[in-house]
Amino acid sequence: MKMNEAERSFATSALIIKDAELQSYLEDMICRLAKEVCSDIRLYVVRIPYFNASMAPNGVMQVWTGLLLRLENEAQLATVLAHELAHYKKRHAIRMWNSARNTTDFLAFFSIATGGVGYGVVGLVAGLGAAGSIQVYSRDLETEADEIGQDYLYRAGYDLAEAGRLWEKIKGEADAGGRETTAIFFASHPPAEDRVENLKVRAEKYPEQPSLLLRQEDQKFRVLVDARWQGWVKDLIDTGSYEETLFVIDGLEERGFNPAALNFFRGDVYRRRSGEEDLFKAKEAYLKAATSEDSPAKTYKNLGLIAKRQKEDGKAIKYFEIYLARYPEASDRFLVESYIKQLRKS
Ligand SMILES: [Zn+2]
Repeated sequence: MKMNEAERSFATSALIIKDAELQSYLEDMICRLAKEVCSDIRLYVVRIPYFNASMAPNGVMQVWTGLLLRLENEAQLATVLAHELAHYKKRHAIRMWNSARNTTDFLAFFSIATGGVGYGVVGLVAGLGAAGSIQVYSRDLETEADEIGQDYLYRAGYDLAEAGRLWEKIKGEADAGGRETTAIFFASHPPAEDRVENLKVRAEKYPEQPSLLLRQEDQKFRVLVDARWQGWVKDLIDTGSYEETLFVIDGLEERGFNPAALNFFRGDVYRRRSGEEDLFKAKEAYLKAATSEDSPAKTYKNLGLIAKRQKEDGKAIKYFEIYLARYPEASDRFLVESYIKQLRKS
C-alpha cells in the first residue's frame, strides 16, 4: 500500500518519459522474457542519464535512459531486464521489506524521479547519493537473480555471452572516470569477479541455442536508439561528468552512430569542461563535424563563438551567417544577429 501511494506521485514526475513506441517495445520484451509475471509489471522509462534499472516490490520497474544509451544491443538490454524480473518473481524485495532501513530505501526508489522536478537533471543527480535510495540485495539474492535471469534469457533465445560484455563495458566507463555515472548500478550490483564467472560456467550447461533464436543483432533496438540517443547524450553532458561522456561517445562511434553529431557533442564537452587546450580541442571537434552535410546547425554557432573569442572577426561572421541560414527558426536568432552587427562595426 505504501508503495502504491508513492507510485502515484512518481507517475506524474516530469522525468517520466511518455514515448509509446519505446514503451511498447520494452513491455513486449518483458513479456517475452517472463510471461508469468508480465501482467504485474508497470514499466516507467525515466529520464536520468546514468546507468540503471530497478524493480520495486509492487511491480514497478524503472528503466533509465542512461541504461538505454549505453547498451550495445538487444541481448544486453534483455540481460538487465531479465535480472530485475527475476528479483520480482522470487519476491526478493518483499523478503527484505520488514527491515526498517530497506523500507526507507524502497520508498526512496520513487523519490528519485519525484525529487528531481524543478531542479532539472543536474539537481536530480546531485541528490541521488544523498537520498541513499539504492536497494542492495544480499549476495545470495543477487546470485539467484543472475541465475533465474539467465534462464529467462536462454528461454527467449538471447545470446548469454552478452552479460560478460556488458559488465566489461560498464567497468570500462568507471575506469574512465565514471565513478559517479556508474555508482548506483555498482552499489546495487557489486561487480564481483565470480559473478561473471558463475554465469559463464552456467551458460555452458544449457543445450545449444538454435541460431535462429539468437537476437543479438536485433535491428529494432538499434532503430529506436538511433532516433533518441542525441537527447540522452545532451542530458549526460549536463551532468558535468565529462570523462565518462567522452567514453560513451567513443562507444557510440564504434557502433556507427552519426559521426557528425558525435563530433558536435565532443566539441560541447570540451567547450564546457574548459580546461587547458579544451578550446582548441572543441574547435577541432566542431570543424570535424562541419565537414559533414548533416552536422547540427549549432556546430556553426559554436564555431562562431570560438572565432569571436579568438578575435577572428571575419570567420566568426561567416560561421554565424551559416548558422542562421541553416537554422532560420533558431530561438537565439536575435542574439546571433546582434553578434554579427557588433563584429561588423569593430
Ligand atoms: Zn540485482
